[in-house]
Amino acid sequence: MPPESTPPIQTDFLIIGSGVAGLRAAIGASRYGKVIVLNKGLGNESNSEFAQGGIAAALSEEEEEIRSHFQDTIEAGKGLCRKEAVKVLVEEGPQRIHELIAWGAEFDKVGDRFAFTREGAHSHSRILRAKGDATGYEIVKTLTRAAQKEKNISIRGGHFTMDLVVGLKEEAAGARRVCLGASVLDERLGAPILFFARAVILATGGAGQVYRRTTNPSVATGDGIAMALQAGAVLEDMEFFQFHPTSLSLPSAPSFLLSEAMRGEGALLRDAEGKRFMDRYHPDAELAPRDVVTRAIWDEMHQGKRQHVYLDLTHLKPAFVRERFPKIYATCLQYGIDITQEQIPVAPSAHYLMGGVKTNLTGETNIERLYAVGEVACTGVHGANRLASNSLLEGLVFGARVGEAVGRLSPTPSIAAEAKGESPASAPAQPEEYLLVQKELRETMWNEVGIIRSDASIRSAILKWRQWRSILEKPGLSRPALETRNMLWLSAAIMEAALRRKESVGAHFRSDAPKRNIKKGRPSGHIGLTRASLNRNFPCRF
Ligand SMILES: Cc1cc2nc3c(=O)[nH]c(=O)nc-3n(C[C@H](O)[C@H](O)[C@H](O)COP(=O)(O)OP(=O)(O)OC[C@H]3O[C@@H](n4cnc5c(N)ncnc54)[C@H](O)[C@@H]3O)c2cc1C
Repeated sequence: MPPESTPPIQTDFLIIGSGVAGLRAAIGASRYGKVIVLNKGLGNESNSEFAQGGIAAALSEEEEEIRSHFQDTIEAGKGLCRKEAVKVLVEEGPQRIHELIAWGAEFDKVGDRFAFTREGAHSHSRILRAKGDATGYEIVKTLTRAAQKEKNISIRGGHFTMDLVVGLKEEAAGARRVCLGASVLDERLGAPILFFARAVILATGGAGQVYRRTTNPSVATGDGIAMALQAGAVLEDMEFFQFHPTSLSLPSAPSFLLSEAMRGEGALLRDAEGKRFMDRYHPDAELAPRDVVTRAIWDEMHQGKRQHVYLDLTHLKPAFVRERFPKIYATCLQYGIDITQEQIPVAPSAHYLMGGVKTNLTGETNIERLYAVGEVACTGVHGANRLASNSLLEGLVFGARVGEAVGRLSPTPSIAAEAKGESPASAPAQPEEYLLVQKELRETMWNEVGIIRSDASIRSAILKWRQWRSILEKPGLSRPALETRNMLWLSAAIMEAALRRKESVGAHFRSDAPKRNIKKGRPSGHIGLTRASLNRNFPCRF
C-alpha cells in the first residue's frame, strides 16, 4: 500500500503507550470520548510488565503513614522533589490501589491481611506485591482487562509513533504551540498514518536502552522524550538516571533485575572473598538508598577489577525463597544458578529515568494539548533519586489525573499543522549502520555518562556524538532508524544536563565535583532543556 493512501484517523484522545500510565489514563479519558492507545512492536512489551518488587502506598490511609511515605520520598529525592507532586502521589495513591483491587488485582496476603514488604530508603513496610515478584504483570493485566471492557477504548499494537504534529496558535502574548496529533508508522504495513486528536498523551515509558547494561526491555528507547523535544517541549532533570544496584551479571544472560525486595527480605551483598561490604558505605548497609548501594558495588568491582559482586540468599529458607521470588528463582535457574544454594553474580544496570518531559500536576506540558505521564514525564515526584516502588504508583495516580484533565478540553480549534523542517535528502542507511551507532552509543553512555561521570568524560562523549550525528541525515522509515534518532537526542539531553550540573546529588555523581553545591544555604535547583539549548554542544539541523 503506498504511504499516501492511508487516510488520517481522527479520535478524541490519542495515548501513546500501553503501560500502567497509558492504560490508567485511557480508562479515565474514555468517560469523555473515544480513545486510541498505541504501542510499538508486536509483543506488547513495557517496563510496567516487568516490574517485580511492588507498589508503594500508605494503604492504611492513616495520616501518620501518609506523612512518612511523603517524608521518605522527599529524602530519597535529595531536596529536588516537587513537594506538591509528592503530596498528590502519597495522598491519592491509596485510592488508586483500592480501585485496582476493585477491578480484580490480587495482591499477596498473609492470612487475610496484605503482605507488606520494605525496600531500601523506606522507613516502613508499605510495599504491596503480587504473585511474589510479578507485581507489574498483575497490574498491567488488571488495567488491560478494565480497558478492554470500555467500548470507547481501542488498543493498537505495532504502531510506532514517529513524531508529534504541532501547529501554531496566535495569541496576544505571541504564538503558542498546540499539539494536533502524531505521525505513526504502522509496523505491519510499513506505512505512515496520521492520527489527529483533541489531546495527545505521551506514556512511552523509559529509556534504559541508551545504556549498555539495563534492566529495561527493548522498547525503552526514550521515544516520547525525543519526539517531545523535537516538537518544542521542555525537558527537566535529565541528568538523573537511576542505576539499579543488582542485576544478573553473566556473560550469557541479559541484565535481568534482581529486585531490591530480595535485600528487603534479608539478602546480603558480598565481595569475591565472601565478605559483606555495605556496612562500610552506609549505616543502613544493604538497605541504603539505591544510588549509595550502586556506587558501593561499582567501587568494589573496580577495586577488585571484577565484573560483579554477589547477592547471597543461601542463609534464607529455600522454600521461602522459591515462594517469595518465583520468577527470579525460575529465571536464574534457567541460567544455571539455583539461588537457594548459590550466590548470584550481580552488577548495576541502568533502570529508571527520573527526568523527562516537564509537566504540571495534571500532566500538561508547555505545548497546549500535549500531556505526558509515567516514566516519560517529569512531574518532580522523584527529584534526584526515585524511592523504590514509587513509579508504578506515579503511573496510576497521574494517569488518572491526566484522564480527567483531558476530558475538560474543548474541541481543537482549527489550526494548520506546522510544515516540517527541511528533510535530509540522503537515502536511509543500512539497518546494520543504525545498530552499530546504537551499540557504540550505549557503550559510551555506560562508560562516560553512567554511574560516575566527570566534565572530561562527558565532553569526550559529546565529541563521539558529533561523529554519529551524520546518521541523522539518513532518516529511514524503520524501527532501527527511528530508535537510533531518538536515542541520539535522548542521550544528548542526558549529556547536556550532566555537563551543566557541576556537583553530585542523588543519582548524578561527578567524580570531579563529588559534593553538593549549597549556595547561601540553598541547594541548587532543576535543569530545564529545550532543543534550542542543545544547539551549542549538539549542532544538527535534523
Ligand atoms: C525490570 C523492572 C522492574 C521494575 N520494578 C518496579 C517495581 O517493583 N515497582 C515500581 O514502582 N517500579 C518498577 N519499575 C519501574 C516501572 O516499572 C516503570 O517506571 C513504569 O512501569 C513505567 O510505566 P509507563 O506506563 O510510564 O511506561 P511503560 O510501562 O514502559 O510503557 C511504555 C509504553 O510505551 C510504548 N511506546 C514506547 N515508545 C513508543 C513509540 N514510539 N510508539 C508507540 N508506542 C511506544 C511501549 O510499547 C509501551 O507500551 C521497574 C522497571 C523495570 C524495567
